[in-house]
Amino acid sequence: MGTTTGLGLVPLGFENSGPVKTPLLNRTPTYCEVCFWKCAAWAYTDEAGQVIKLIGNDKDPHCFGRLCPRGTGGVGMYSDNDRLKTPLIRTNENGEQTFREATWEEALDLIAKKFKEIGEAHGPESIALLKHGAPGQHLEHLFKAMGSDTIAEPAYAQCRGPRETGFAATFGSWVGSPEPTDIRDTKCLVLIGSHIGENMHNTQVQEMSDAIDNGATIITVDPRFSTAASKSKFWLPIKPSTDIALLLSWMHVLIYEDLYDKKYIEKYATGFQQLKEHVRTFTPEWAYTITTIKPADIRRTAREMANASPSVIVHPGRHVTWYGDDTQRSRAIAILNALLGSWGRRGGFYFKESIKVPKYPHPEYPHPKWGWHELGKEYPMAQMGITTEVIKASIPNPDNPYPVKAWMVAGTNITKSIPNKKLLEEAIESIDFMVVMDTMPMDVTGYADVVLPEATYLERADGIRSATNREPSIAVRLPAAKPRFDSRPGWWVAKQIGERLGLSGYFDYEDYEEVIQWQLEKMGSSLNELERTGVKMFPRKSGSMYLDEEGNHEFDTASGKIELYSQELKNLGFDPMPVFTKHPEPPAGYYRLNYGRAPMHTFSRTANNPNLNDLKDENKLWVNPKVARILDLRSGQEVWLKNQDGIISDFAIKVRVTERIRWDSVYMVHGFGHTNKKLTRAFGKGINDTQMISSVMVDPIMGGTGMRGNFVTILTEDPHKTIEL
Ligand code: SF4
Repeated sequence: MGTTTGLGLVPLGFENSGPVKTPLLNRTPTYCEVCFWKCAAWAYTDEAGQVIKLIGNDKDPHCFGRLCPRGTGGVGMYSDNDRLKTPLIRTNENGEQTFREATWEEALDLIAKKFKEIGEAHGPESIALLKHGAPGQHLEHLFKAMGSDTIAEPAYAQCRGPRETGFAATFGSWVGSPEPTDIRDTKCLVLIGSHIGENMHNTQVQEMSDAIDNGATIITVDPRFSTAASKSKFWLPIKPSTDIALLLSWMHVLIYEDLYDKKYIEKYATGFQQLKEHVRTFTPEWAYTITTIKPADIRRTAREMANASPSVIVHPGRHVTWYGDDTQRSRAIAILNALLGSWGRRGGFYFKESIKVPKYPHPEYPHPKWGWHELGKEYPMAQMGITTEVIKASIPNPDNPYPVKAWMVAGTNITKSIPNKKLLEEAIESIDFMVVMDTMPMDVTGYADVVLPEATYLERADGIRSATNREPSIAVRLPAAKPRFDSRPGWWVAKQIGERLGLSGYFDYEDYEEVIQWQLEKMGSSLNELERTGVKMFPRKSGSMYLDEEGNHEFDTASGKIELYSQELKNLGFDPMPVFTKHPEPPAGYYRLNYGRAPMHTFSRTANNPNLNDLKDENKLWVNPKVARILDLRSGQEVWLKNQDGIISDFAIKVRVTERIRWDSVYMVHGFGHTNKKLTRAFGKGINDTQMISSVMVDPIMGGTGMRGNFVTILTEDPHKTIEL
């Protein structure tokens, strides 16, 4: 990478070169938005002001100077000519619904008018924000200023929520992002349906690779031979939906073979005797009949973990909304970590820390009469808005005291992240008004009344990144290039709508860089400093990253201890310790639909990115050779899918015959099968797994939507073929 001249002008890649003439490139600090690991980077622009290259920031603890392939391909988000180019307003032409191009003035005036009308008629609480990422933060500020707390993001109830609730109920702390997993120093890493390597969360991958080089044991539990499984000493190809049985059985071995960390449990935990009694009968022989994992393998892997204790991590996973008992499965993972003494120990989980970014001054937010809490009241341990509850509240129901009437959707393609398309479409049909803000014509834009083209992360400033890590750090994102087309930054959109609603006091700045500058100065730094460094580290203030073995430690639970037995869950009417529940199995001729990630893509947002689409432009259906023999399938053959509810995939998918998947399941990478023709590279390529997910098992504790209980049959004839008579 180039070196700075102090002015941001860098001859790139020729630091040691001779007299080669090189163009001078300008560099601007940013943090990546291709996924939400938020690696700090330098965006290099040429003399014409075009972004041409992204390189990781050496100082950043989220990436250590190395972006993942997707992050490097982030330039494609900026250069993609399929981007949304101008605001669009839904209109009716000759009886047909279509969009017309509009000016920003028109679009923003219309949004403000509708929000005002709906707010006056039903209260501002009836306007909901569904969001993801940095633009969502600016809109969250707008919504709170409007008096609406009806805010949700699929990242909670469709992804990480159960693990946060499960770990909080055990250790009194969320896992959070980045996860405080001390992978670099671990001796044993256990991955349960977690695909580090395919799920390219940068530092986790880098640290896992270092841990393998240092001789760490990897144990992977997965019905699929994933990339992580290929690096593992043990691959346990578990029967899907039976993970809790395996976890209980591992607890049984640790406790009844006296392998657990006795001193740690005595000092820090409560409920051990109840747990011991609870798992008494959950022997490996019991688990074998459920999981198909041999008892000897269960014992051997439990002993391997115990040998590495406390430098062992049973990874909490990330996308954990599988079978509706996901909080309890996450609890089981947390309890297993407690038995191994890994929470607060080197090579296990470190105590994370972040630095607080001062709030830019604004008037107090009004107090909404209701919001996400009330919508999710059926789920007593929900800690954030549940997107599906917002969706349900949008469908008219005389018994619903909290009706939602309008949506603003920002940075999340809900048609690909929310299961049960029928319910989603019914809700969209029912609401009075819908705005979508995105950089790309994602499928969800097709449902909007107004579409706003957002500038990409390389063209805008956003809030200061401050995430938990071993040491606190901040990173800034400043605009590296002018917004292409007629796109605008999210902060500007929020301010414009706010001002039209008479909320100017909440947006007392001309440019978001003023906010950043003010915050940095309050933190003892300056915009000038961060323009030069991109990242700033701060010393820890909360003490050691690990437990002080001599001292005492109070956990943030009701008892102050690690709760192996949860009185809180018991009081709420839930099992105080995890239990195994049998889940439905595929009917004859059907296979369980499993889905996951590819290292070069993030959900559906990158499928059309020219750089990343070049690397992978479609998903494939992994099919076991036994199934291929029965159905006479060969690799490369196009097939369609039909699920248990008769839903047929819009498009075809190519078969990949492989031993790497169990015979009772099929697998595909999530995020393909786009239906918007304006995504010229991604349209019609592969199958959208979410389309096939119509059965949802809801977690009664926190409202997560379990999505792994869907079964598909494979169609070899095109079901959409019209027969000419
Ligand atoms: S992990 Fe990759 S895609 Fe995600 S923020 Fe980092 S560089 Fe970007």
